[in-house]
Amino acid sequence: MSGRTYRVPFPARGSILDVDELAAVCELVRSDHTLSGGEFRDRFERRFRDYIGTAHAISVTSGTVALELAIHLADLRPGDEVIVTPQTYQATIQPLLDREVKVTFCDVDPHTLNMGPDVLETLISDRTAAIVLVHYGGYPAEMNRIMDAARKNGAFVIEDCAHALGSSYHGRIPGSLADIGCFSFHSSKNLTTLGEGGMLTFDRDDCAERLARIRSNQVDGIFRPAGNHLLEPPALLPWMMFAEDVYQVDCAEVSRAGTNATLSEAAAAIGIVQMDRLAELSSRRRSTAHRLDKIVAGYEGLRLHRPPSIIEHAYHLYTFFVDAGADVRERLVRTLDRRGIEVQLRYFPLHLTPEWRSRGHGIGECPIAEQTWFSGHMNLPCHPTLSDEQIDYLVETLDRSLAEVLEYADDVPAPQPANSSRGAPCRSST
Ligand SMILES: *Cc1c(COP(=O)(O)O)cnc(C)c1O
Repeated sequence: MSGRTYRVPFPARGSILDVDELAAVCELVRSDHTLSGGEFRDRFERRFRDYIGTAHAISVTSGTVALELAIHLADLRPGDEVIVTPQTYQATIQPLLDREVKVTFCDVDPHTLNMGPDVLETLISDRTAAIVLVHYGGYPAEMNRIMDAARKNGAFVIEDCAHALGSSYHGRIPGSLADIGCFSFHSSKNLTTLGEGGMLTFDRDDCAERLARIRSNQVDGIFRPAGNHLLEPPALLPWMMFAEDVYQVDCAEVSRAGTNATLSEAAAAIGIVQMDRLAELSSRRRSTAHRLDKIVAGYEGLRLHRPPSIIEHAYHLYTFFVDAGADVRERLVRTLDRRGIEVQLRYFPLHLTPEWRSRGHGIGECPIAEQTWFSGHMNLPCHPTLSDEQIDYLVETLDRSLAEVLEYADDVPAPQPANSSRGAPCRSST
């Protein structure tokens, strides 16, 4: 579907950044303030942490880096089991490709497309070291049951919140519902920091200390000579180079060298303004989604991706289900596409991708995720850069297309051979 210009494109065109974000960057670059790792980063992190409701928020350069570091903090050992969702963007579980762990895909719930708690409860055991899940499309996963199961079995839980900003779950904010939350500020996401950026949110102080070191080129570990006075550092060295609590005693924890994943000050300055606008940006997504829901709800054989009122959907993706089968979905996708609406099917089930098949995964492992992608769902544009005119056209075109395609499916019998007539056999001899 690439290469065409759609009247209503799926991804954002241009950006959601506006004059206030520009002003923040202008002010920063004309000041004598550093552009790397300073006050704006700290302010953005405090703002984000307070919004999410965690003790810590640590910014990094992308959502992918946030997930890599979160999986690193799970301290997985060879042979550990990790349970993951198959229905997400590949970055959610990509870091596991390089580890000697046993990855188990947990099928999704057919209504939410999130990790299904019923299936999880059959898979989890004391061998489960970690769980990695996503809040699909901005619909929060069933975290109460998932965390109960995880706590009983001692599993570390990572929430991929790349879609979830603007959602809520029983009065709490995703990113505060598990051990660690990972956000992306890529330009397609609900909030962006100049195109790329990410954040980790969590409560544990030990994680904060390790992350602060890893993301700024220091090793992940604390140097402690443990009573061995030969290794005691010269007094001047720690005084000059490290805060006292950093240069300590215990090499055993060093498991990863540091990297540089510092969010730039310009990106952080924009992030602060975007936090001010989060409610406005979320409500634009929500209002488009509700208009589309109204249309979809008017037809039989379709199902909404709509949570109960105690859960708020962030509509990073607008999703609905076509229960009438693969043929009907295909006709609908082709009809909308012909009319300039770009439809997507997010996401191809990850256990069926070559990298996971080559590790022993395959068809039949997650029947609901497979059935949904191959025949049951679709995603329509609902990005806040869509103009009012584009949204009107999207809503009207969806209605017209559904009427045509579904009426055809319900009322018109399958095409008959030219020489037959309905209801009577061709030859009624004898
Ligand atoms: C976008 C996205 C990521 C990756 O974030 P980047 O900032 O692009 O690296 C991870 N997980 C999900 C579910 C995403 O949608």
